[in-house]
Amino acid sequence: MPVRVLPFRQFVLKVHSRCDLACDHCYVYEHADQSWRGKPKVISAEVVAQAGVRIAEHARGHSLPGVRIILHGGEPLLAGASRLAQIARALRAAVEPACPLDLRVHTNGVRLDERMCEVFLAERVKVGISLDGDRAANDLHRRFADGRSSYDHVLHAVGLLRGERYREIFAGLLATIDVRSDPVASYRALAALGPPALEFLLPHGTHDEPPPGADRGVTPYADWLAAVYEAWHSDGEPVPVRIFESIRRTSLGLSSLTEALGTEASDLAVIETDGTIEQADSIKVAYDGAPETGLDIFRHPLDAAAAHPAIAARQRGVAGLAAACRRCPVVASCGGGLYAHRYRAGTGFDNPSVYCADLEKIITHVRSGLGTAPVAANGPVTSQPVTSQRPAYQLPAGDFDAVAAGFGDGAAIGRLAAAQRTFRRQLLELLRARASERADGAFLAGWELLERLQQDNDAAFAVVLAHPYVRAWAERCLRAATKPDGGPAPLPPEAGHLAAIAAAVAVRAGALAEIDVPAAGGFLSLPTLGRLRVGPPIGSTGAGAISVAEGGFEVRANSGKWHVQLADPAADADWEPVRELRSGEFTVRLEDTDPYRDCHQWPAAPRVGDAELAQWRERFAVAWPLIGQDYPAYAGGLTAGLSVLLPLANDVPGRDISAAARPAFGAVGAALPVDGAALALLLIHEFQHVKLGAVLDMYDLCDPADRRLYYAPWRDDPRPLEPLLQGAYAHLGVTDYWRVRRGRVAGDAALDADERFARWRMLTAEAIETLAGSGSLTVQGDRFVAGMRATVGPWLAEPVGDGAARAAAQWAAERRARWERDRRPEHQ
Ligand code: SF4
Repeated sequence: MPVRVLPFRQFVLKVHSRCDLACDHCYVYEHADQSWRGKPKVISAEVVAQAGVRIAEHARGHSLPGVRIILHGGEPLLAGASRLAQIARALRAAVEPACPLDLRVHTNGVRLDERMCEVFLAERVKVGISLDGDRAANDLHRRFADGRSSYDHVLHAVGLLRGERYREIFAGLLATIDVRSDPVASYRALAALGPPALEFLLPHGTHDEPPPGADRGVTPYADWLAAVYEAWHSDGEPVPVRIFESIRRTSLGLSSLTEALGTEASDLAVIETDGTIEQADSIKVAYDGAPETGLDIFRHPLDAAAAHPAIAARQRGVAGLAAACRRCPVVASCGGGLYAHRYRAGTGFDNPSVYCADLEKIITHVRSGLGTAPVAANGPVTSQPVTSQRPAYQLPAGDFDAVAAGFGDGAAIGRLAAAQRTFRRQLLELLRARASERADGAFLAGWELLERLQQDNDAAFAVVLAHPYVRAWAERCLRAATKPDGGPAPLPPEAGHLAAIAAAVAVRAGALAEIDVPAAGGFLSLPTLGRLRVGPPIGSTGAGAISVAEGGFEVRANSGKWHVQLADPAADADWEPVRELRSGEFTVRLEDTDPYRDCHQWPAAPRVGDAELAQWRERFAVAWPLIGQDYPAYAGGLTAGLSVLLPLANDVPGRDISAAARPAFGAVGAALPVDGAALALLLIHEFQHVKLGAVLDMYDLCDPADRRLYYAPWRDDPRPLEPLLQGAYAHLGVTDYWRVRRGRVAGDAALDADERFARWRMLTAEAIETLAGSGSLTVQGDRFVAGMRATVGPWLAEPVGDGAARAAAQWAAERRARWERDRRPEHQ
């Protein structure tokens, strides 16, 4: 039986195996594995070419929509500017015919000069720099072999990357923690450099070789990070700090932004300067030879490495963790920490992290600031509402049944949207009840303007209040303004965003108005309309004013003045309008400006460039007519409910990424899909989540007291009942897509569609039976699942090809066997 492997999507390519610094915490030279001694110093052109061939082959074989390659070392810049340029070109030439390539370099920065920067700019290589904090923190470790400090060299490099010319290739700063350093001074020194992202790394260690700091208390790393967290939060969170953002995201059921946290499968392979394929570098800390696979790119495809037992062991999510981790209340955020940190001679990696106590403490600390109950490791992928209130709106029985069947016409989905509007007003009322005359001036000014405008401006009100991220913002504020015991707390500063919401209504209505609005992250934002750049991209706070007059609106910032005409927004280079995707009469907004849009399972992408915008438009122009023609049962609902397509960052290149979010009714998030048909599928799939989320806002379909986990036939990990319902309902739409698709395409594409239909109807029907037999559906839940079952039942009788039926059955049997194997006692 062929072995199914999860593909790699990230590749660390060692281009130079020596370093010009002698950092004593380096995992390449200073830990157990000493294999670097036998490796060639510099990667050869032959190894680069073969790496490109293998990565392209892997991308094609798995239909990956993109991959990331990180040029690494040792110190990669020792390879020299012209050699690095050749490497970048060779990789792009080999890989880009197969899929887009996200090329990066990770450097100590010592040799980064203008010539290097020009190369990286020309070859589109993003640059990450290691810097441990202020001069004192950095000099604890990051020194030359003769003891000299590297600090001034690195600061010069960061200065280049911060400048206007190279800013677009600046990826961020990585700092390794030393608990002897001052946490707040270290953090503030790094934040002051204005990096686009900041990452704090725990120094490597294992249970056999514990990290330093045991003399500084029981949880020295959690205490150090907690001090940084408090300073970062009180500074207004001026730069994304990946460890804190990852804890917040995973606490809400979203993905982690770092491999050191979370439960997602590992997807990274290392290619050494001699072409050998290894596991992630950090495993070098465990024992000599730990990363070895015995494979190389000349003799083996990358699939062979992906199937290697040591790599497959890291792709099993929670099921692959030690028993103590599987029972742990913070496992959804922690995921057992970095794989290398679990090692102990005798038990290998089947242990909690050597940082277990620190991880649990810092995760709990960050979660307490979030004001939300942590979700289970197998919790829903969409965040739960912050209030127990339900929309003051009832759905007619016919609408309920139509949505339960998997569909819902424009009128039914329009009523779901109306329920969402009433819910948003309720949330605003809750915020208003917590607002203080003394402290919440911007919020109250926004409230007054909305009250004045609501009389005669229904259309403008409807558009802005229906904007998906208005609710996301309101829930975020309400969460912050609610004590752990449920009592009211002061509004957070971001509640002032209501002024911008009111200004957007005024602009859309053309109503005369003048209002001060807060700036955040360097922008003044007008929801649904766009944003004006008013300061440095990161860390700017302040205020500006928006006034609406005849024929346009004017945006003023405290440092200058802009005039933006509605009729010609492109006239101002600092104004970034929300752009639309159009097909016939139907338009959706491609939302890449709203400051509260990052609430989906995957991170929101930054502003989309013109080339990608053209690709979105081209795919949408194919997808929408395809839905109208082949999937009319979904088209009406989408027309009534879909208002926003949110570009998602493909932070794990190669993964098909799409997501809906419960607080963002009307929005579907996605990384750019490969073509229009793929976009049509993901719109149908994700909008099922949107519809069901709105129903769940109104009704309990599952008994919340049922805390059992159920087999989800499309996943490796078991799911609580409500997420199982979410998955089954979404896959009902997926099944229908392939059911129709197999009659619309020919040849291999038809065979593929037939097999997918056979597979998804089987899995969806199985999940529906699990739901129906759970005994934990409410009365409405029983009715809803009965509707789903009535739709899928006749599909089970539709004929499929013998090959499709066999392949689908084999796929399902393999998955079931893997799941049952994981439940056997030795895996408990
Ligand atoms: S905190 Fe400890 S027990 Fe919990 S998941 Fe992390 S390493 Fe495992």
